[in-house]
Amino acid sequence: MLRRLILYFSTAGWARRIVTGWGLARRVARRFVAGETLDEAARVTQTLNAKGMAVTLDCLGESVHRAEDTAEVVKAYRAVLERIQQDRLNASISVKLTHLGLDISEELCTGNLRHILGAAQERGVSVTIDMESSAYTDRTLRLYRTLRDEYGFNNVGVVIQSYLYRSEADMRELAAEGAHVRLCKGAYLEPPTVAFPAKADVDASYVKLAQAYLKSPPPAYLCLATHDEKMIAATEQFIKDQHIPTDRYEYQMLYGIRSARQEELAQAGYTMRVYVPFGAAWYPYFMRRLAERPANLWFFARGVFAR
Ligand SMILES: Cc1cc2nc3c(=O)[nH]c(=O)nc-3n(C[C@H](O)[C@H](O)[C@H](O)COP(=O)(O)OP(=O)(O)OC[C@H]3O[C@@H](n4cnc5c(N)ncnc54)[C@H](O)[C@@H]3O)c2cc1C
Repeated sequence: MLRRLILYFSTAGWARRIVTGWGLARRVARRFVAGETLDEAARVTQTLNAKGMAVTLDCLGESVHRAEDTAEVVKAYRAVLERIQQDRLNASISVKLTHLGLDISEELCTGNLRHILGAAQERGVSVTIDMESSAYTDRTLRLYRTLRDEYGFNNVGVVIQSYLYRSEADMRELAAEGAHVRLCKGAYLEPPTVAFPAKADVDASYVKLAQAYLKSPPPAYLCLATHDEKMIAATEQFIKDQHIPTDRYEYQMLYGIRSARQEELAQAGYTMRVYVPFGAAWYPYFMRRLAERPANLWFFARGVFAR
């Protein structure tokens, strides 16, 4: 109930205006966001790289409705790619299609994505297309396949959410195509007609999808994006039992969540990639992190009432 309420607020313009005006909210958001500038994100990336972890950099932003604003997003990602090359960062990038104009037109979004993928490919950087709400799943998978198959980009991957009923079929097709997939549970407000309402079912789906994908032949590659110890334990055991080679998967977690565990997995020899978001448009990202864990909300609320 609380999760659904916070996720509703995450898309409400009036709530965004109130929350982003609070200095306290900005300070709490900093736990999950590397900063507002590329310099800050590069510093965080260097620190994580020095601890043996890879990074995926995300320029925060989504639901852009003016074509001219999407040109700025492409420019921002080009700057990130140049910085990765210049500072020799061990980093990929993550993009959201509504940040690149998917709500305006698929054609505009495809053009923007081509620019980013081209600039990334020149620098040997891979790109993951984040998955947004189920209203975008078909279009996201379509654009991913267009860029991969028609334009020949081999540096692109996509995200699948275990809470969606359709994901089992999507994963089966992606495995046959040898795709680079990030598997997460899913962070958006979805109706029971498209997504499992019960957490136990979302978790069971995660383990089932992960195990099936890990067994699929190369070049299929799986990014296990989760902070959940039960998901980590189940996949770790499966990887050991089935002798899955280390170049077929990696673990991923979000910046600011279970940082000690991130280091531990890296030290244990796993490829560990941290999703590092930065930029001024932190509100919806921050609200999704609050929705995932009510304890974050109490921490935030205590701060508000303590004032
Ligand atoms: C690298 C990465 C990329 C992602 N990309 C996408 C995407 O493209 N699309 C999408 O819909 N979702 C994405 N997500 C979010 C994901 O869908 C989940 O909402 C999120 O990861 C929480 O699920 P969980 O697997 O960690 O398990 P949960 O069952 O939610 O959490 C398990 C445990 O992890 C810890 N934890 C989880 N979340 C938090 C938090 N916010 N604050 C503090 N502790 C927490 C807690 O200890 C909790 O008990 C991504 C997640 C990761 C790690």
